[in-house]
Amino acid sequence: MAHVHIHRLPAWQYALAGGTTAVLGAYALNSIVLWLLLQAAVVVVLYRAACRHRCGWWLLFAAALAGLIAAAGWSIRSGVPANTPMGLSMALPYALYAAGAFQFGRRKQPGSAAEAGAVVLGLAMVAWSFVVLPYLGEPGYQQVGNALAMLYAVIDIAILATVLRNLADARRGPARLLAAGGLLLLTPHLVYAATGSAGTVPFLPGGPAHLMIQFCWVLVAAAALHPGAGVYLPGAEGVGRRPLIAMCTAAVASPLIPAIADRRAVVVVPALLTAGVCGLLLLRIVLLARLAERRAGQARAALQEQQVLQRRLAYRAGHDALTGLANRDLLLDHLGRAVAGDRPYALILCALDGFKEVNDTYGHHVGDTVLRQVAGRLLLFAPEVELVARLGGDEFGFLVTSGADAGELAGRVVGAVAAAPFVVDERRIPLTARAGLADGVPGNDTVLGDADLALRAAKQAGGARPARFDESLRAEQTERARIAAGLRQALADGSLFMHYQPVVDAGTGRMTGVEALMRWRRDGELVPPGVFIPVAEQTGLIGAVGTRALWLACAQAAVWHREHGLYLTVNVSTHQLRDPGFADGVLAVLAGTGLPAAALVLEITESVLIDAADTPVLGTLRAHGVRIAIDDFGTGYSSLAYLHTLPVDILKIDQSFIRRLQDPPKPTDVSLTRAILELARSQGLLAVAEGVETGAQADLLRELSCPLAQGYHFGRPADARSIDSLLRDTVREPAA
Ligand code: C2E
Ligand code: CA
Ligand code: CA
Repeated sequence: MAHVHIHRLPAWQYALAGGTTAVLGAYALNSIVLWLLLQAAVVVVLYRAACRHRCGWWLLFAAALAGLIAAAGWSIRSGVPANTPMGLSMALPYALYAAGAFQFGRRKQPGSAAEAGAVVLGLAMVAWSFVVLPYLGEPGYQQVGNALAMLYAVIDIAILATVLRNLADARRGPARLLAAGGLLLLTPHLVYAATGSAGTVPFLPGGPAHLMIQFCWVLVAAAALHPGAGVYLPGAEGVGRRPLIAMCTAAVASPLIPAIADRRAVVVVPALLTAGVCGLLLLRIVLLARLAERRAGQARAALQEQQVLQRRLAYRAGHDALTGLANRDLLLDHLGRAVAGDRPYALILCALDGFKEVNDTYGHHVGDTVLRQVAGRLLLFAPEVELVARLGGDEFGFLVTSGADAGELAGRVVGAVAAAPFVVDERRIPLTARAGLADGVPGNDTVLGDADLALRAAKQAGGARPARFDESLRAEQTERARIAAGLRQALADGSLFMHYQPVVDAGTGRMTGVEALMRWRRDGELVPPGVFIPVAEQTGLIGAVGTRALWLACAQAAVWHREHGLYLTVNVSTHQLRDPGFADGVLAVLAGTGLPAAALVLEITESVLIDAADTPVLGTLRAHGVRIAIDDFGTGYSSLAYLHTLPVDILKIDQSFIRRLQDPPKPTDVSLTRAILELARSQGLLAVAEGVETGAQADLLRELSCPLAQGYHFGRPADARSIDSLLRDTVREPAA
């Protein structure tokens, strides 16, 4: 909402200027009617102020009205009024004025009235001692005149009190106007008193005293129109210094005043004693006030501390204690705002590769330090991001609302992680990261899930390229969920079963072993393992699926081993190796099926092997006689350097190498295969050529002295019965 301010001259300034002009005009013209009209205008202004603000304005209104009536009275009467009625008629407006102006300065705070009262009483003491007493003592002074003089003295002192009080007022404008008005009222009285109360003429319209009083009313009217007129003084928190000093002075000094005027012991002694009592009482009060103030101070400090704590708790609630980055809650909070907003935004999720290994290898202390360093690097490389959050573990989120290119940013942070190793205690720890990002449109709150899908896609794709969410990822996700549900069902209803592919002696073509390959028939159709194995890995079902494969294959192979001396080779995935109970599980299956450990080979892909090299699982199994094969050799890391450190026995050359040995094979391809075979031999590993599809390939491998081979040329993966009949055939006509 926009407010339109219209600038106007304040009304009170008009009143001041107009009033002054009118008073001067009336003086010059010496017109009674004009005087009365002027005073009537003041009455109206004060009446309106009283209706709006209360707070003393009613008293001031009454004062002006009384003044108007008095002035009207004198105007009607011809001749100069006598001192007494004149004085009485004017005492009322003054007293009302003093009361009203005093009310205006009232603070909404306990004790302030007492302070003001003390000052007034102190002044009354001055009036009593120096004004009233001397007059009372004067012989021959008229009784009524005496009383009037005393009355005026007291009223004047009250007015003086209001002047002082209004001068100290924080509401500058109206208070200053009232103070000035008070002074204008006081002056003619003092002059009157000083000149021995000679005559009443100056107080009549046209006289100088009347002129000043009229100016006073102009000031009061202006004060009534001032915007500060209705503003209450705020109750100050502590006890102010100035009122306190005024009160102390009044309390201690006023009992002494009679003693100054009259030095007799009968006056001085009680005065001194009274002043002493007042002083001690005040001391007590001040000390109590100090105590209260200290208590209040303590309470304030406690409150402040609580607020700091509150802020700290709020910070903690929104931030990750380890890295100081925002946490998931805070990110969700900001994300919610971005969704509700009207600007496009993007979310990047970034995960470290192999961070778990850092923790396992070097301990959590090093892992935590690395995470802190990663956090620092991410912040440094993504300055245009609204929020960087740690979402738990090794995953980070970046909310981009600045319109920056999120794809470029994602690439930059991934690059920043990989750019240089992290250094902890002089250990250099290289890390890489993957990133997925999703663009958010206002009103769409699926962005977190979308970015997560993109991150998973990036992990699957490998490499440093960030993946960006699109609808196909969601379709894939739905398909994955369908497969996972089907797999769960399959584990229960036995629709998972095994096929076996012969592994043959490359020289003779004789079957020496079988590779177990899992099959799933869903709704009468075979689902390829390349489809369901990755889903099983992602959903954690691989544990159950792998165990099922082992039981089925070992039970079947136990027979073949007994009768034909065949060995069995079974595929094992990364996730299975991470299970610390894996080795015991395998040994239990061997014990349960009667297959000797020496007849079992576990196939593990190359990249996984390097990660698993320092876990005790493989060592335990090998100690029992189980052999380990590197599957798909040549597709993962170039692990030649590590080969001798890996706990392996068999090397399976990936199909891609064999496929290149087409008729006629290129010399370079032949020499590559030869080199791999020689490498295996030198490391004491048994080599298996995979994916042999043609006789020419088989011949070539034989020439290269490849010990074992596998492929459609020798036999497709088939069910157990087919292998059985194959075995029967070989027994009947042994290979040449
Ligand atoms: P793999 O371990 O490399 O298995 C060899 C794959 O090559 C099998 O595919 C096999 O049918 C196929 N193959 C065999 N000979 C030839 C050939 O001459 N030419 C061609 N083009 N292909 C040939 P399959 O059965 O579809 O299995 C695919 C992958 O699924 C396997 O690759 C393996 O990584 C995984 N897998 C299969 N069963 C299991 C299992 O029980 N557990 C685990 N963890 N993974 C399995
Ligand atoms: Ca395999
Ligand atoms: Ca393979």
